[in-house]
Amino acid sequence: MNEEPQADPADTATPSGSPSCSVCLDFDWAEEDAESTGDLSLATDWRVLRRRHDKAEHPERAARFRSG
Ligand SMILES: [Zn+2]
Repeated sequence: MNEEPQADPADTATPSGSPSCSVCLDFDWAEEDAESTGDLSLATDWRVLRRRHDKAEHPERAARFRSG
């Protein structure tokens, strides 16, 4: 037995908050862009849409990160 404790590649590839899903990344980008331009209501809209997408497309992750 000579197993070294190594991080799961899948975990390192998808750190929390940085999903590999391009749709999620689009939502993240759109939210940040809206915030950077001071359009906070639009940023909130993107956040809501992103959560909706999470529930629909990533039910496992949505359940794991249910904090609101
Ligand atoms: Zn996604």
